[in-house]
Amino acid sequence: MDADVTDADVIIAGAGPTGLMLAGELRLGGAEVIVLETLERPTGQSRGLGFTARALESFDQRGLVPRFGGLETSPMGHFGGVQFDFTALEDAHFGARGIPQSRTEAVLEEWALELGTDIRRGWELLDLSQDADGVTVTADTPDGERRLRARYLVGADGGHSLVRRTAGFSFPGTDATRGMYLADVVGCAIPPRFLGERVPAGMVMAAPLAEGVDRIIVCEHGAPPADRSTTPDFAEVAAAWKRLTGEDISGGSADWVSSFTDATRQASEYRRGRVLLAGDAAHIHLPAGGQGLSTGVQDAVNLGWKLAAVVRGWAPDGLLDTYHGERHPAGERLLANTLAQGTVFLGGAESEPLRALFAGLIELDPVKRFLAGVVSHLDVHYDLGEGGHPLLGRRLPPRVLTTASGPVGTPTLLHSAQGLVLDLADDPGVREAAAGWKDRVSLVTGVPQDPDAFAGAPAMLVRPDGYVAWAGADPAELGEALHRWFGTPA
Ligand SMILES: Cc1cc2nc3c(=O)[nH]c(=O)nc-3n(C[C@H](O)[C@H](O)[C@H](O)COP(=O)(O)OP(=O)(O)OC[C@H]3O[C@@H](n4cnc5c(N)ncnc54)[C@H](O)[C@@H]3O)c2cc1C
Repeated sequence: MDADVTDADVIIAGAGPTGLMLAGELRLGGAEVIVLETLERPTGQSRGLGFTARALESFDQRGLVPRFGGLETSPMGHFGGVQFDFTALEDAHFGARGIPQSRTEAVLEEWALELGTDIRRGWELLDLSQDADGVTVTADTPDGERRLRARYLVGADGGHSLVRRTAGFSFPGTDATRGMYLADVVGCAIPPRFLGERVPAGMVMAAPLAEGVDRIIVCEHGAPPADRSTTPDFAEVAAAWKRLTGEDISGGSADWVSSFTDATRQASEYRRGRVLLAGDAAHIHLPAGGQGLSTGVQDAVNLGWKLAAVVRGWAPDGLLDTYHGERHPAGERLLANTLAQGTVFLGGAESEPLRALFAGLIELDPVKRFLAGVVSHLDVHYDLGEGGHPLLGRRLPPRVLTTASGPVGTPTLLHSAQGLVLDLADDPGVREAAAGWKDRVSLVTGVPQDPDAFAGAPAMLVRPDGYVAWAGADPAELGEALHRWFGTPA
């Protein structure tokens, strides 16, 4: 294969939520993308049943929310099974619930295809090699083995990522200590336990999934992690359910039975040369609080515009490395919070004193706000420099601006995945400073309807991922920030 000829700018392995979100982001940034997916068609099965407040905001930034139909968010959530009201923190909620992962994937696949992604189902990545100019991959396809070449490869191929293993990423962490069952049960009514319930021998959860189908989760103290090579059968799950709850569900059957564990690992680097990792390929953990898919989506939104900028040729030096710099710490916090939740939620009698102490602490408003920020992912704060405005490195909160063409919500201003200069004090100096970047940064003049929005910032630079890269009044500082994030003006 000629090393100069490429089939795409970027190949993504895996059409799960992370790979599909990344494909859409890259297309919005102008990159040519091929997604390789082993499965010939989606399984229709859903590990996840929702996403966090920040993942919902990420979808809103791309105009995707109406595609989900009526989304409901829940103010009441939990940390380690201890319930509390997330609305103690402005904009926070426990996320959108009751949305099967298969639905999220269908929405993202439709969007990525509309944007021109080349999704190749039935193509399993078998091998890869990288050189100074690109990455060559071998895939098993319906027409036999094929080789493809791209400038970059992203492994979004899930927790057992072949990309991660083949490209030599290390994946330190802890092995599974507990095994848990999941089953989608039909043919018997199961009393709901939406946020999970601790019982003497473990923890059980039950929630309606669809008409006549209940999702149950069973975690029994002392149950070893399941052998991954076999699928558990429903009789095993029903027996465990009976031991823990006393309820007999053995007369029903299951649409789907699966098992999972609390194995907790994170790739020590998210980039090795021209190969990058995102989503479960980069981090695995106990699924506490429904955060895995949501984190993968946020990895994708962070990486997409940066990688597109690199392949389009306008990326400033070091931009791509900020992906690891920003998302690796976010992954570390995810692993820490899910490990903590596992201890409080799934531990045996020995965890009761800790749990009682924790239940007292969670009554305190600052504790509620802190934990709501952690689990909703609204607390993500990228290190974009010392001092500066309080919003620096944080998400742009969704607020309405009054502009010359009428009211507009800030998420709408990010639909195109361009950078955004908000001129909030009608300052010609700000507009002049931004003028050179208009091919990649939009400029909007307006006034927030809520005068306290944006902590009084007179102007802001917002990255395509919705994070504030600069806030202030000085056009010269704005120019420096534009150079730093958006390169040399056209
Ligand atoms: C019980 C449970 C409940 C959960 N609930 C939630 C929740 O409510 N909210 C939430 O945010 N998260 C939840 N999660 C986590 C969530 O399911 C995962 O984090 C999410 O699926 C990760 O998405 P991904 O795209 O990174 O990986 P995956 O979803 O694993 O997708 C990877 C894709 O890559 C494909 N692939 C693999 N190898 C190859 C290859 N060699 N070549 C080509 N294609 C390949 C696979 O077929 C797959 O389609 C839950 C997890 C579990 C176990």
